[in-house]
Amino acid sequence: MTPLFYLKTFGCQMNKHDSDSVSQILLNEGYRQSEIAEDAQIILINTCAVRKKAEDKALTLIGRLASLKQKNPDIIMGVLGCVAQNQGVDLLRRFPHLDLVIGPRNIHHIDKLKTRNRKEKNMVSCLDWTDNICLFPKYNGYLKGKVTCFLKVMEGCDNFCSYCIVPFVRGRETSLPATIILDRAHQLIREGIREIILIGQNVNSYNVKNKAKPSFAGLLRALDGISGLQRLRFTTSHPKDLSDELIGLFGELKTLCPHIHLPVQSGSDAVLRRMSRGYTVEHYMTLIEKLRTTRPDIAVSSDMIVGFPGETDEDFQESLSLVDELRFDNLFSFRYSDRRGTKATGFPNKVGEREKQERLSLLQERQARITLAKNKSLEGTVQTVLVEGPAKHGGEQRSGRTGGNKVVNFASNTSLTGALVRIKVIKGFQNSLFGEFSGPESHSVE
Ligand code: SF4
Repeated sequence: MTPLFYLKTFGCQMNKHDSDSVSQILLNEGYRQSEIAEDAQIILINTCAVRKKAEDKALTLIGRLASLKQKNPDIIMGVLGCVAQNQGVDLLRRFPHLDLVIGPRNIHHIDKLKTRNRKEKNMVSCLDWTDNICLFPKYNGYLKGKVTCFLKVMEGCDNFCSYCIVPFVRGRETSLPATIILDRAHQLIREGIREIILIGQNVNSYNVKNKAKPSFAGLLRALDGISGLQRLRFTTSHPKDLSDELIGLFGELKTLCPHIHLPVQSGSDAVLRRMSRGYTVEHYMTLIEKLRTTRPDIAVSSDMIVGFPGETDEDFQESLSLVDELRFDNLFSFRYSDRRGTKATGFPNKVGEREKQERLSLLQERQARITLAKNKSLEGTVQTVLVEGPAKHGGEQRSGRTGGNKVVNFASNTSLTGALVRIKVIKGFQNSLFGEFSGPESHSVE
């Protein structure tokens, strides 16, 4: 009988990409994926340590899975990702039902499962620092029916923002050679992918540290020239590394979508300084102005942290004012939480949990109004949409995204998956748009 694996992923797009890589390795090894943990012989949890909430959720799930191991001691249970790296073998001690912990730089060692002698019941840890970046292994049908795909261009980060655990769990910044990235991109397009999303912790410092060519802008130019690629996106960018050359590409490259995710984190210079972000509010606002001048229809999303140690009411009001002024299309906002080993953990004047929650609610309410108004402002416009497949809520609705990364649902009794179509927006909602098909922009790939 074909063995089944179950893989639960917490956290960011980097983690989702890593989970895709793990799934592909296991599929290549002859396993099949199951959506139900109880059915699986291998249970893996890919964890995120960036925020306490995500870490707590993962640890709770790991604890709950002990009962499955009690019922069937032959099940292999593993923890992957940033919590695995951060807590290491302590996790194996705390949760004796675990068989392995594997850090993000070592996830390609998941194939150790095959050689592991189950009878010996050895615990395995793969936590060494390595410059290897785990990539998608050879294609095995995993991408069938998919239109959009992540492509990792770098791993790790050297910035050491004072609140962030990433440099400690994903290691120092390592850029992948452009030849590998371009080969992968060609391969993805041959497999039917139409939109590539370049990912890394700080993509716009690609190749800066190792003084190699091309720059990130050069990499985008090379990818833009690949026949069959319809859309190119990238995430995440750091404001201190966003060059004028890169901004200019939004007005130049035909495949580069008019969307940028540019985390600002706070509207207060004093807080940004303590966060060690390396830019001021004024600099950030100048960047947004340049982006909007270059590409007036560009959608901008951002991240903000509330309740950073020492954040005063005035600091928080400055964050609210920045949100009012810049009117992001979307904002991902979070309460600050101490992360072991980071500088900010030792900072004085911690903000109370109630205060943090109140600030978060205020910020989210403010942004929700802006997001809704922005979505409503698109009513009556015609948007080019890349169709990704059936809409989540089923029926005969299809779903895709605008260049500005907004989800659009529309009725259609044909698949259209992989096609660029024109959709007239009828209604703007909080999290999506609803529209009607008004013609093809290109042919479906099916
Ligand atoms: S740039 Fe700062 S916040 Fe982003 S991953 Fe690096 S250290 Fe973390």
